[in-house]
Amino acid sequence: SSNRGSSGIFQRRTVSGRVPADLGRRRLRIVVTGGAGFVGSHLVDKLITRGDEVIVIDNFFTGRKDNLVHLFGNPRFELIRHDVVEPILLEVDQIYHLACPASPVHYKYNPVKTIKTNVMGTLNMLGLAKRVGARFLLTSTSEVYGDPLEHPQKETYWGNVNPIGERSCYDEGKRTAETLTMDYHRGAGVEVRIARIFNTYGPRMCLDDGRVVSNFVAQAIRKQPMTVYGDGKQTRSFQYVSDLVEGLVALMEGEHVGPFNLGNPGEFTMLELAEVVKAVIDPSATIEFRPNTADDPHKRKPDIARAKELLNWEPKISLKDGLPLMVSDFRNRILNEDEGKGL
Ligand code: NAD
Ligand code: UDP
Ligand code: UDP
Repeated sequence: SSNRGSSGIFQRRTVSGRVPADLGRRRLRIVVTGGAGFVGSHLVDKLITRGDEVIVIDNFFTGRKDNLVHLFGNPRFELIRHDVVEPILLEVDQIYHLACPASPVHYKYNPVKTIKTNVMGTLNMLGLAKRVGARFLLTSTSEVYGDPLEHPQKETYWGNVNPIGERSCYDEGKRTAETLTMDYHRGAGVEVRIARIFNTYGPRMCLDDGRVVSNFVAQAIRKQPMTVYGDGKQTRSFQYVSDLVEGLVALMEGEHVGPFNLGNPGEFTMLELAEVVKAVIDPSATIEFRPNTADDPHKRKPDIARAKELLNWEPKISLKDGLPLMVSDFRNRILNEDEGKGL
């Protein structure tokens, strides 16, 4: 049964016993919270492919069964509809904790729910990690740096964050999640890892989550103008999802707690991004200026020296090479949507 309450009985050994002959190591049982989402589903694919058992916990707020449907029927895969704000009992070796709405449109939709997910959800997963002796990885965000006064951002920078703004449920929520993670590490000896993820894109992103890459790509495919907020001179760095997944696994398997920036240091203005989307999808695409949103960071670019040195990780896929890899997925889903509307 899964309700054995004794603490640490799974420490230093795997839960699921058998050693697959081709792996040369024990098969792990791994929880991925938020595994039905964009990043989570790609991570799950990677873990299943390498031979591990994966349990996804997701409440389907922004995630979709479609992202995992190819794994249904695989005996090493399990999907649980569950909200991480509520406790749960499981026996596992590793926990990748991703559950949290990630785009401003979604995290501002119900800010109190967002901060509960960040605080109570993270607390529950840390409590679970403590009870069973699992290793815990938090997916934090570059937003912990706020509107940064240091550029590019190193992990040692403490950030410039508004505690009472519209983004606080997310950025202050993630900062609290990092605090909880370190307190369980120092206070209860839980093995933890912290990733600070920078803007990531790829197939399975929500079509209408309002993030700049998904907006521009969907707009260009739909033959609508690309909406540039503000003067379009603000910068971001864009990481392809497979690079991120490799970074997350390297971090989990490595010896270092972090935090580690995981992002692509290539820096683009929104106007430059629009040019790349134009070149990849439709040379006749146009842009349209819109007012910017509150507290929008002016610049963001990761310093990834720490991850390079200690995790031997760096991104491999440039924006020019990565964007085309998401276009067919977006085209198919937009086509299906239009068919659904009888167009
Ligand atoms: P996503 O919205 O596609 O995935 C989040 C998943 O969490 C969804 O499947 C959603 O249904 C689930 N979820 C949300 N609240 C939940 C709850 N209370 N209980 C259970 N499940 C819940 O977003 P993503 O881009 O895949 O982001 C994954 C993680 O990476 C998030 O923690 C996010 O903060 C972090 N991150 C992402 C980016 C990025 O650019 N994509 C950047 C920085 C950090
Ligand atoms: N928790 C959980 N699953 C577990 C163990 C704990 O969801 O297997 C939850 C637990 O309900 C609590 C939180 O994690 O809300 C923190 O647990 P911890 O044991 O650290 O604190 P306590 O229960 O003593 O407050
Ligand atoms: N942005 C834009 N057009 C859009 C959506 C966003 O110009 O249609 C801008 C937004 O103002 C911000 C940048 O793109 O400066 C990145 O926004 P996103 O929401 O993708 O990510 P985040 O702000 O979390 O980095």
